[in-house]
Amino acid sequence: MLINTKKILQHAQQEKYAVAAFNVYNLETVQVAIHVAERENQPVIIALGERYFPTVDVEGFAAFVKALAEKSAVPVALHLDHAYEKESIIRAIRCGFTSVMFDGSAYDLDENIRRTKEIVEIAHMAGVSVEAEIGSLAKGDFSDEEEGDGTLTDPQSAKDFVDTTGVDFLAAAIGTVHGMYKGEPKIDLPLLERIQQAVDVPLVLHGGSGTPDSVITQAVQLGICKVNVNTEVSMAAVSYLQHAFENKQMVHLSTVMADMQQAMEPVMTKFVRLFANR
Ligand SMILES: [Zn+2]
Repeated sequence: MLINTKKILQHAQQEKYAVAAFNVYNLETVQVAIHVAERENQPVIIALGERYFPTVDVEGFAAFVKALAEKSAVPVALHLDHAYEKESIIRAIRCGFTSVMFDGSAYDLDENIRRTKEIVEIAHMAGVSVEAEIGSLAKGDFSDEEEGDGTLTDPQSAKDFVDTTGVDFLAAAIGTVHGMYKGEPKIDLPLLERIQQAVDVPLVLHGGSGTPDSVITQAVQLGICKVNVNTEVSMAAVSYLQHAFENKQMVHLSTVMADMQQAMEPVMTKFVRLFANR
């Protein structure tokens, strides 16, 4: 069933687990994400970034996800990831996304607060929940995502931000990166603990790919309720494709798609189990 993202994350917060938010790019990736969630009996968040709007028919995509969600035995949420434009957010709300992320992390705190507050007012009128971010993630290897300066989240600013804007969940920058780490990951778990003590909304960790399992487990214990996963799933699919094309003279597209889904499945399964503390 399609469920509001806030409701899914409030349950995760109460029960101290995290929900996977898989970045998807096409219908094949959506199907694997929901299939894995059903098999593992866990909720799942299907996340589409604003950056894919030029190549994905957003209304058609939302209709497809909603149809699969209605058939699903587990809660499914549809989330707009990293949006910068109000128009994109309104478009997503209109076609049934259950949450949106406004990324104002490039602005100074006051401007980020002002813009986020406006988005929260619009989204809440439609019953859609809002994620926002303060601090920002640096960009690692193989990433197709945003480049930030790696500023970590200040706990007091996080509290002011949440209190003033009314956001439903907050992305905290604690040293994870978008993409794979260049060198050893330096994740500031004590900082996460201070952020968690300062705010009461569910916290979100971007940059799940390549983050050591033990760090993720501790982060979930310290209040992370949603973990975004993008690059590792993409890498599994693309590695499979490279291998397939090297070894076969000509393959049919339908076979490639099915095999690519099989390549993504164990990666998504690993994350879902890790986040569920199983
Ligand atoms: Zn992100």
